[in-house]
Amino acid sequence: MITEALSEIRTELPEGVRLVAVSKYHPSSAIREAYEAGQRLFGESHAQELQAKRGQLPEDIEWHFIGHLQTNKVKLIAPYVSLIHAVDTPRLLEEISRQALRHGRRIPCLLELKVAREATKYGFQPEECEEYLSSGLWRRLEGVRISGVMCMASLTEDERQIASEFDAAHSFFLQARQRYFADSDCFRECSWGMSDDYPIALRHGTTMVRIGSKIFGERDYTGGK
Ligand SMILES: *Cc1c(COP(=O)(O)O)cnc(C)c1O
Repeated sequence: MITEALSEIRTELPEGVRLVAVSKYHPSSAIREAYEAGQRLFGESHAQELQAKRGQLPEDIEWHFIGHLQTNKVKLIAPYVSLIHAVDTPRLLEEISRQALRHGRRIPCLLELKVAREATKYGFQPEECEEYLSSGLWRRLEGVRISGVMCMASLTEDERQIASEFDAAHSFFLQARQRYFADSDCFRECSWGMSDDYPIALRHGTTMVRIGSKIFGERDYTGGK
């Protein structure tokens, strides 16, 4: 199942789009199966869960943190996480920088944009994000590298709505790149597209899709991890 789903998804991804296999709530055995099918990049959204699984799995797995990250959990993942997708406040970015420097690291981070129509809890409003970038405060944070933007579309069947949300994030990305990152090629990631909407994301600027249930099946939120 996992192997087949992975290879099916891989054939759909154009060059330049990476697949983050979202393994939250699935056991290490499922991750191992995907690993054996060649997958090396996984996304988790709970620091402790990630911590526990990582100890049971091969060291060459690249771990992305994709969910809402609490500042007091940053220290758990700072030694090894290779990308943090959903930075939603300046304070979180500052804490990531601080913890990264303790390990002599510079952690790539994406800024989460609120573009969905539905009221979501997390993420920067685009104007807020623009204001923060223009403040230049982030330039002093030597433990992080702002590498792009991330968003989640509304939960809807309306494909045009979803496409317009991805487009809004993509326009933001292009403008920010031109205004603040023209001198570096590090700002290049657009993280959007999940099991139900990644085909739309592929047509609307994504460079990184985060796919869980389509690979691993439905998540069991009640059982053990
Ligand atoms: C769970 C999760 C996903 C994957 O969702 P699926 O619908 O299972 O593909 C992607 N992104 C984030 C931020 C998530 O929390």
